[in-house]
Amino acid sequence: REGRVVMREMTELNTGARIVVRLEGHAFYYPVSDVLRLFTGAIPREEEGRVVCDAASILPGREELFSEDGVLTILSRVSEEWVETVVEEDRKVPEAGKDRDGEVISIQSAPQISISRKDMDLPVNREVKRQLYFLLSRILKMSFPWGSLTGIRPTQVARELSSEEEMQEIYGVRSDKAHLAFLTKEREDAVLSETPSDALHVYIGIPFCPSRCSYCSFIAQEAPRKTEILPAYVDAVLMELDLVLPKITSKIETLYVGGGTPTVLPEVLFEKFMRGVLSHPEFKEVKEICVEAGRPDTITERKLAVLMELGVRRICINPQTLCDATLQRVGRKHSAKDFADAFEMARKMGFSVINTDLIAGLPGETTEEFCSSLMRIIKLRPENVTVHALSKKRRSSLSRKEVVRTEDHGTKRVEDMLSFSSQKLIEAGYKPYYMYKQKDTIGGHENIGYCLDGGECIYNVAMMSDLRSVLSFGAGGMSKRVFPNSGKENSPKGTPAAGVRIERCPCIKEPTQYITDVESMAERKIRFFQGDVHL
Ligand code: SF4
Repeated sequence: REGRVVMREMTELNTGARIVVRLEGHAFYYPVSDVLRLFTGAIPREEEGRVVCDAASILPGREELFSEDGVLTILSRVSEEWVETVVEEDRKVPEAGKDRDGEVISIQSAPQISISRKDMDLPVNREVKRQLYFLLSRILKMSFPWGSLTGIRPTQVARELSSEEEMQEIYGVRSDKAHLAFLTKEREDAVLSETPSDALHVYIGIPFCPSRCSYCSFIAQEAPRKTEILPAYVDAVLMELDLVLPKITSKIETLYVGGGTPTVLPEVLFEKFMRGVLSHPEFKEVKEICVEAGRPDTITERKLAVLMELGVRRICINPQTLCDATLQRVGRKHSAKDFADAFEMARKMGFSVINTDLIAGLPGETTEEFCSSLMRIIKLRPENVTVHALSKKRRSSLSRKEVVRTEDHGTKRVEDMLSFSSQKLIEAGYKPYYMYKQKDTIGGHENIGYCLDGGECIYNVAMMSDLRSVLSFGAGGMSKRVFPNSGKENSPKGTPAAGVRIERCPCIKEPTQYITDVESMAERKIRFFQGDVHL
C-alpha cells in the first residue's frame, strides 16, 4: 500500500494513554506515523486501517483530551470530494486561543480541518499529514519549529514555494526556520548548478569504527573485534571497484570515502586501500575527494601523509562534542585533546578543507557544554561545520527513553543548541549550504552543514538533495539513480522532488557476506547503472 511502512516495534513508554488515528479512504500510514512520532516521541504501530501511538509523554496536563480508557481518536478521511481530519468524539477540548491551563475550559464540538479536493494544491499524502499536524497542534497546544515538515527536506519544499511566508502558512514552519530553509536552498542550488544532472557521485564505505558510539544507527562494526576480516574487506571493495568502474559511462564528479571510519584501518592497510582506490583513472578528474577521518583517535601522521601524497585535501575530523565527560558517556574512546591534536596536525600538513561534526542533544550534555564546544570549534576555523540533532534509530543502543529525556519538550534544550549554533556560525562568517532532517529527532530538528566560502562539500549536497545519482561501493552502501523530469514520482521513500524519479539499489549490509558476494553485488550494480529498471 502507498505510504505503508510496517512498524511493529512496541514503545517503551506504554502507560495506556494513546492516540488512535483511523484512516478512511486512504492508506497513508507513513505520513500519519511521522506526525504522531513528532508529537509524542513514541514509535507508532500500524494496525489494519489505523495507526496507534503511545501518548504517555504528552499526557500530563492534557488528561481531559483523552477518553476514560485513555484514548484520543482522530479520523483522517479522504473521499472523492474532501480531505478531512476530525477528532471523533466530543472531548473537553480547549477553545482555540485559550490557554490550556487557564480557568475557562469549554467543551466544543469535535475540532476538524477539511478542504475540498478541487481547492487543494498539495498532493493528498501531504495534505493528510498537514491536517493532522494542525489539528494536533491546536488541541494539544504544541507546535514544532518545522511544523508539519517531517520526512521531507525543507529545502526541497522551499524549491516548490515562492516565499518564506508561504512555507509558514502552509506547513506551520516557524519564521526563523523558513528563513534558514530558503537561505540554505540558495546555496544548495548554487552547488548543484555546478554539477551536471547526469554526472555520478561515488561513495565508498568502510563500515568499521574503533568503538561503537551509543547513538550510532549505522551498520558500523567495532574494528578491534573484526581485525581478521579487515584485509579481506579492503580486497573486496577494491575488487568491486575494478569490476564496476570500467563499465560506468557517466562522468564521475566527486568521490567520498566514508564509513564508519576509514582511518580505522591499520596504516599499511589504509595505504593499500587508498592507493588502490585512487589508482583508478575514473577518479583522476574528479572535482572533489573527501575522506572521513571521523574519530580523531584513528588519525596518524602516516595516514595523513598518504592522503596528502595522493592529492586528498579535504577530510572530516569529527569530535561531536569537546566535553570529555560526554565523549566517555557515549562510548567514544577519545578526548577533546585528541581532536585538537589531530586537527592541528592536519592543518600543519596542509589539508585545506576540514569538516568537523557536532551533535546537539547528546545524553547528559548541558546547553552550556554544547555551546562551549561550538565556540572552541569556531576558533579553530574549520572550513566546514556540520551540526546534527541527536536522533534515535533502532540500531543504536541508546534507548528511546534516554532520547525522549534528552529532548524534553519542556526545556527545548536541543532547540536552544541549534539556534545558538546557527546564530554564532552565521556571525562568524559561515553559511548554511545543505540541510536534512532525520525521522527520529524528537521535535523534528534539522541537521545543517555550514561552510566558509568555498568550503562546500559537493558530495553532501548531491547526496542529500536526491537530485543527483550516487554509485556506492562497500557493505551497506545505497546506490541511487535519479531521473530528472521523468514526470513521475516513484521514490521508495515517497519524498522525491516534484517530477523526479529515483531508483535505489541497496548492497548487502553484513561485511562478511559482502566479502563473499562481492562479485554478484558488482554485477547487480553494473546492471542497475546500465539499464532503466528498478532492481
Ligand atoms: S563514529 Fe559514526 S559510524 Fe562510527 S560508531 Fe560512531 S556514530 Fe557510528
